Amino acid sequence: MNDIALNDSALRPVPPGIEAAALDALRRVWGYPAFRGLQQSIVEHVSAGGDALVLMPTGAGKSLCYQVPSLVRAGTGVVVSPLIALMQDQVDALRENGVRAEYLNSTLSMDDARRVERAMRAGEIDLLYVAPERLLTERCLELLEQSRLALFAIDEAHCVSQWGHDFRPEYLGLSVLHERFPQVPRVALTATADPQTRREIRERLALDDAREFVSSFDRPNIRYTIVEKDEPRRQLLALLSGELRGQAGIVYCATRKRVEETAQGLRDHGYDALPYHAGLPADVRAANQSRFLREDGVVMVATVAFGMGIDKPDVRFVAHLDMPKSVEGYYQETGRAGRDGLPSQAWMAYGLQDVVNNRRQIDESEGSDDYKRVSRGKLDAMVGMAEADGCRRVLLLRYFGEASQPCGNCDNCLHPPERWDATEAARKLLSCIYRIRQASGFGYGAHYVIGVLRGDRDEKVLERRHDQLSTFGIGADIDARTWHAVLRQLVARGLVEVAHERYGALELTEAAAPVLRGQEQVMLAKAGLARAERPKGGRSRRAAAGGGDAPSVALGLDTESAERFAKLRAWRLAAAREHGVPPYVIFHDAHLAEIARRDPADLDDLHGVPGVGAAKLERYGEAVIAALHAD
Ligand code: ADP
Ligand code: ZN
Repeated sequence: MNDIALNDSALRPVPPGIEAAALDALRRVWGYPAFRGLQQSIVEHVSAGGDALVLMPTGAGKSLCYQVPSLVRAGTGVVVSPLIALMQDQVDALRENGVRAEYLNSTLSMDDARRVERAMRAGEIDLLYVAPERLLTERCLELLEQSRLALFAIDEAHCVSQWGHDFRPEYLGLSVLHERFPQVPRVALTATADPQTRREIRERLALDDAREFVSSFDRPNIRYTIVEKDEPRRQLLALLSGELRGQAGIVYCATRKRVEETAQGLRDHGYDALPYHAGLPADVRAANQSRFLREDGVVMVATVAFGMGIDKPDVRFVAHLDMPKSVEGYYQETGRAGRDGLPSQAWMAYGLQDVVNNRRQIDESEGSDDYKRVSRGKLDAMVGMAEADGCRRVLLLRYFGEASQPCGNCDNCLHPPERWDATEAARKLLSCIYRIRQASGFGYGAHYVIGVLRGDRDEKVLERRHDQLSTFGIGADIDARTWHAVLRQLVARGLVEVAHERYGALELTEAAAPVLRGQEQVMLAKAGLARAERPKGGRSRRAAAGGGDAPSVALGLDTESAERFAKLRAWRLAAAREHGVPPYVIFHDAHLAEIARRDPADLDDLHGVPGVGAAKLERYGEAVIAALHAD
């Protein structure tokens, strides 16, 4: 799917001059040469006073869609954001670009809040970030009434959705903006794509006349890889030991315990890894998040409690040690990698136990039957994605309603799995499940069934006399690992169900019958998912032999540029500490890499490098040139 703008009746004529003013702001303030994708249409529409609903994937550049119009239009752009902990960084980043930005939330002292309010009334603020609960106070609404407003931007707009896991009750109150400020344009933004959420945003925020902008949800710079879970800790270490060493990343685990153990395991191997989960005290969480944002190369090991609104651009990998419950979750979590558009990895280790655990959680949850049915459907789609032998990106995008071609940047595209005729094997496995169930009156788990199939004379097997079954030992010619892979694929295809309430007992479904009767052929991927673990591409190894450090290798710099890049990074870290901001607020890796590549001799040369706007040129230009020429 290409980028599209819907609801053309809501199209506004763009007055002359807006296009030029917008482009001028983009170049002067941000130092970017051009808008990307739908940005220009959105910026022009909102600058002309139109309402908009913007759906774009993470990293596509939603912020500019309201920041530029806030500068083009007279008055202050008011940004509603649920993420108090990140407002400071957002405001700092804007100030670094010379934009007059402020925030109002509960972390501000009374005095500071008063100062911001005065500046607001005096028309001295370009962008004001406000937490929703603060915005809804009478004091704040009055302040807004006494100020000149350019627009309202409602960030993370999916927080109005009562069904979503980011639901914020305060967001429901935001329809008041429409009632009290009917003449101020509103733009709602989210990276959550599904039509249901989209409808809810429109309804709850009274955005009936808003023009809808939907961009493609593809993240071409992210490489998707899903491997068979074997020894997850060792597999993770293998992943991180290559070009990802020293890079910032997120490792997602399902439980707090696993988070703690994994973080410790990584630290034992010399990684700068920190835990993050809801069981940690708030100050520890905040400190760990801050280190992740402010220092280079920190690995955050976390539950899904971590991530929303983290706009760190240089997260180079997201690894899942446990499978998310839905494709939406997988997409959202992996989407935190590579916001800066540079090559990044989304890696997951997956096994049958993931299916069992997720199933159990759904069935034991308090939700209604409807909720459980929907959740099971979502889980099935995720399992299908994990077991797929075709392009993962095609599946991912299809899930969000987008058609696409095989991508060439996922494990299945890079190393197409071999297929084999598994009809006979599938029949053996299915009949073994059937026979055991028939003999005992109930099913057994995967390990047990595969043991019987392979003819293991296990104590339990003998005790239950399952060595007497006709299927005992009929699968001895195939190793246990392959049997597990076969089983997983049969589960993914819905031929076998894993009944968690009986400790993962296997049960046949209706769909198994034609295979058992020999009426249906079963083609499966060979060796499950193991092949995907092979080392990737040759470029990195060659570059690594040239002595570059891991980040510059990922950026594709030659040896000399890599040396300059290292100097620039060292300078940036020192400057960031001095200014009390995260390094990427000063310059992104991508921008430093470009400076390193061009090797500017003076300020004139530096001017015009992407990411170097007027304010940064003035503030850091000399220091950048000096850092390049330092020994
Ligand atoms: P989102 O909020 O959609 O996840 P951001 O607004 O954080 O994305 O933008 C992602 C990154 O892309 C940021 O580092 C931003 O500076 C950069 N970016 C956005 N638009 C442009 C552009 N037109 N040219 C160059 N870089 C851009
Ligand atoms: Zn692919």
